[in-house]
Amino acid sequence: MSAHYQQATRSPLRSVYRLRIKCPVCGHKDNCSISEDRTRAYCRRTASKHQGRDGGFLHILVDTPRTSHAPQTPQQKQTAPIIVADEARRHSVYTALSRGLQLSPADHASLRARGLSDEAIERGQFKSTPTKDEAAAITHGLSNTHDLARVPGFYKEAGAWRMTWTDTGIIVPARDAFARINALMYRRTHARKDESFGKYIWISSAEDRNGRPREAGASSGAPCHYANSHMMKDAEVVTLTEGALKAEIAANLLNQPVIGNAPSCFGADFAASLKKDFPRIKTVFVAFDMDFRRNEHVKAALFRLVEQLEHARFDVRVRTWPDRWKGIDDYLLAVASQREVAA
Ligand SMILES: [Zn+2]
Repeated sequence: MSAHYQQATRSPLRSVYRLRIKCPVCGHKDNCSISEDRTRAYCRRTASKHQGRDGGFLHILVDTPRTSHAPQTPQQKQTAPIIVADEARRHSVYTALSRGLQLSPADHASLRARGLSDEAIERGQFKSTPTKDEAAAITHGLSNTHDLARVPGFYKEAGAWRMTWTDTGIIVPARDAFARINALMYRRTHARKDESFGKYIWISSAEDRNGRPREAGASSGAPCHYANSHMMKDAEVVTLTEGALKAEIAANLLNQPVIGNAPSCFGADFAASLKKDFPRIKTVFVAFDMDFRRNEHVKAALFRLVEQLEHARFDVRVRTWPDRWKGIDDYLLAVASQREVAA
């Protein structure tokens, strides 16, 4: 932990929802926090190299006067190296973890209500978050068969392997373009808008609650989630949207691969890698939440994303829908249920 970070953690954080302002990083009016002195934000949606124990990200907005080095741009912060287990090991650990977890009937019903089919729920390996005792037992078992070092969500304490505490919720395994699970996030069941603790949380084990690095822990890095990743190889059209669960729902309703992440979290080489790995893809639909476009930072990130996609010679189309639906998932679900009523 750098002195700079310690320095910047003094002024207390306040919920943007309570302050009735927008998060200066992602532009949303809930879930994120800002320090009283406005020098830093704790954003739930946009990654930085400082990930907190509950999965959010610290962003330094203004360098505090006592630090001498030049202010970092958001770009520099995001490209800092992240020490994490390789893809194969993360996939193997998360797959084994998922086999040890259950999906409660209530959580299954809630995913169905959000527009996911039984098949999509099964394939996505959605699970209910474990209780403390379940997590301890599963982690103990996993540590005998797998190397858990630097797998986000696991860490060592007093010689024993532990899993990061999770609130009640549904785990969404985030997959890379080749269908490997490379991170886990969860949607809290009892999230309230006025809390500084967010609704969607990346499972991370980089730091303890006091911001000290955990032994053998790692940050999730808030990666892109490729929903319907098994369709990537043959796809000619993909859609980009915000967040892993929204991507799953849209992918299920569109029967297409959908890539989920905040506009600012798609790396600078995203389009070039997509082109190289999946040469059949011709068209990219960009479908971020409507309220996203009213924020200057988010708008700028969105333009940069469109620009790099066009530079890689994709046919880029910005997908819009009537304002009364916040996200493409809500809109597609409304269209799908209208069809059911008509039929
Ligand atoms: Zn934010």
